[in-house]
Amino acid sequence: MEKITILGSANAVAKSDQQNAHLLFETSKRKILVDCGDHAAASLARAGVEINQVTDLILTHFHADHVGSLPLVIMDMWLEKRVEPLTIYGLEITIEKAKKLLDLFDWQKWSNMFPVNFVTVGDAGFPKMIADSEVVVSALPVLHLIPTIGLRFQFTGGRTITYSCDTEPCDSLYTLADKADVLLQEAAGPGKGHTSPEQAGEIAARCGVKQLVLIHYEARRGKKVLIAEAQAKFNGKVVAAEDGLVL
Ligand SMILES: [Zn+2]
Ligand SMILES: [Zn+2]
Repeated sequence: MEKITILGSANAVAKSDQQNAHLLFETSKRKILVDCGDHAAASLARAGVEINQVTDLILTHFHADHVGSLPLVIMDMWLEKRVEPLTIYGLEITIEKAKKLLDLFDWQKWSNMFPVNFVTVGDAGFPKMIADSEVVVSALPVLHLIPTIGLRFQFTGGRTITYSCDTEPCDSLYTLADKADVLLQEAAGPGKGHTSPEQAGEIAARCGVKQLVLIHYEARRGKKVLIAEAQAKFNGKVVAAEDGLVL
């Protein structure tokens, strides 16, 4: 049975009770961390997960609120004596920059460094970026200010969860979200490269999803207001993500 934990729900500016958006998708075999803007060791610990239990790390795009803590995540894995390989996924430009960021810390010179595998996503996306008997994760480029991927998790015998990542409404997002059980939709907009809560409601209705979860939103506007704006366009269940929320 899959378990999805919202480790952080904030937009680019973290709040007293909200870290930058990052998530954990768990099956019996994998713990897939999506992004690490804020330090994931702390949020994982709060979710009862040790950092070295993470099997896969997906970097959605190279904005600091999504990758800023990458060197610290890798260093903490090393300090905790990780042996198992870690696989990191992202667009070619994202992986290239991630390597440069890690190189600033001379990470490849650390003694007994664990293996890190990089998997790059092409411009056409990656239909089976991760695939085993329990989950298939597909990635498609979405429409943000810089190259970004959106994600769809199809759990065998379970739910389909779509995470928009940072994007404005676009065709690839509609493909990713088609009839999903849960759409985790960024709602930082309105504005170029982002989605407003109202547009999030429109996407949810258009794609026929069962539940809409707003994430990466402007908390100062108040969750009730944001949810009401989405509900004006979508009849299904709408909630605003909070740190620690389990889906
Ligand atoms: Zn962001
Ligand atoms: Zn961004």
